Amino acid sequence: MRGRSLFLAYLLALLASLAVAAKPVAAQSMLRDAETEQLLKDMLAPLVEASELEPGNVEVVLINDPSINAFVAGGQVIYVHTGLIEAATSANEVQGVLAHELGHITAGHAVRFDERIKAANGISILSLLLGVGAVLAGAGEAGMGVIAAGQQAAMGSFLSFNRDQEAATDLAGVRYLSGAGISGKGMIAFFEKLRGNEIRSGYSQADEAAYSRTHPLTGDRIQVLRGLLDDSPSWDAVPDAGLQERFVRAKAKLSGYLSEPRRTLNAFPLRDKSIPAHYARAYAYHKDARVDLALAETDALLAAEPDNPWFLELKGQVLLESGRPRDALVPLRRAVELTLAHPLIAGMLGHALIATEDPANFPEAENVLRASVQRDRYNPFAWYQLGVVYEARGDMPRARLASAEQQVMNRLYPQALQNAQAAEAGLPYGSPDWIRAQDVALEARAELERVRKKR
Ligand SMILES: [Zn+2]
Repeated sequence: MRGRSLFLAYLLALLASLAVAAKPVAAQSMLRDAETEQLLKDMLAPLVEASELEPGNVEVVLINDPSINAFVAGGQVIYVHTGLIEAATSANEVQGVLAHELGHITAGHAVRFDERIKAANGISILSLLLGVGAVLAGAGEAGMGVIAAGQQAAMGSFLSFNRDQEAATDLAGVRYLSGAGISGKGMIAFFEKLRGNEIRSGYSQADEAAYSRTHPLTGDRIQVLRGLLDDSPSWDAVPDAGLQERFVRAKAKLSGYLSEPRRTLNAFPLRDKSIPAHYARAYAYHKDARVDLALAETDALLAAEPDNPWFLELKGQVLLESGRPRDALVPLRRAVELTLAHPLIAGMLGHALIATEDPANFPEAENVLRASVQRDRYNPFAWYQLGVVYEARGDMPRARLASAEQQVMNRLYPQALQNAQAAEAGLPYGSPDWIRAQDVALEARAELERVRKKR
C-alpha cells in the first residue's frame, strides 16, 4: 500500500499546490476502473523492478482522451491516454511504451511543475468512474466530479522532449525491458505504427501525432532502438499470454464504455461469442439503456467465469444504474469479497446499499464506504455517498466533513471551507476526524487565498 499512499500524498500535494481558477481550456478526464488500473499496474511492475526505482512507487493514471499519448509530468506517475490503449494491439506494445516512460522518470526528465504551470493554466481534469452513472452517483450535486488533479496531466498536450533526452530514455527503456525479460518487439511495432501513421481509422491526424509530438520519433531513432532491442536476449521472449488476454478484455471494455453503442455493436457483432465481445456489448447496451440485453451479456460473461470480480462488478453496476439496487447487492458483495474490498468496487456497493433506501442497509454502507475512502481517498463519489449515510443517521459534523472532502476535490473551495469549519466545530476535540476537518479547512483557505492574491 506504500505506493498508493505515496501517490495519494502526491495528489494531495497537487491539490494543495493548484489553485488555477481560470476556466478550463480543455478539460481532461481521469478514468477510473478497477480492472484496468490493476492491469496497468501488473504490466508496469516487472519494469519498475528492473529499474532503479522502488517497486510500487510508480503509478499509472488513465486519462480519457482519444489521442494517442503517454507521458510523465512531475512525480512518479505515468499518464496513459485511452487512445493509446485503443491503438495498441498487444499488452507487449503498451509495455514498450511504459518502459520508455519509466526511462523519463528515472532520468528526471519530468518537468518541474512550477516551470510549466503557466502554460498549463486553466486546464483541469474531470474524474470519471468507468461505470457509476454520474447522476445516480450524486455527481450532479458533486459538481460533476471535477477534480483538481490535472494541470500535470494536461501537460501532455505541449510537453516535448529533445533528441538527447529521447536517446537516453531509449537506452533506459531497453534496459528495463531486457531486465524484465520482456520482448522489445511491441515497442518497435508501436513506434513504427505511429511513425507510419498506420493506426486504424477513427483517429484524426492530430490524435495520431500526439505521441510523436511529445516524444519525437525519427526514423534514425527507431533504427537505433531496434538494434539495441534485438541484441537483447529477451527479444524472442514469448509474450505473457495472461496479460495479453486481460489486455484484450480491458480494451474491449473501454471501447464499449467510450464508443457510440452502434459503433461497438459493429465492431463486436452478435455472432462473436468471445469474452471481449460480450464485454463490449454489455457496455454498449447499458449505455443505450437496453437493460435486458446488457444483463444477458453480463450473464454470458458470468456463465463462463462465475467468480470473475470485474464481471460481477459490471452486473451490479447495470442493476444499480437501472434502478434495481437491491438486486445489485448480491454481485457487488461478492465482487468486494473477491477483490479484498477494492476501494472502487466497495464504493459502488456502498452506493447500492444507500440506493435501497432501507435504513437497515446503512450501517453496512457506512462500513464499506469508510473502508473505501481510507484506502483510496481520491474518490469524490464515495465521499458523497458517505455524506448521505452520515446525514441519514443524524451525524451532521461527519456529514459536513464528507461534503468538505468531496468539495475540496471538486475545487469548490468556499463550500469546502464552510463545511470543514462546521465539521470542526461539531467533532470531538482532537479526534482524527477533527484533525482532518482542520486540514481540509486549511487547504481550502490556502486555495482561496491564492486566488485572491492573483486578482
Ligand atoms: Zn520519450
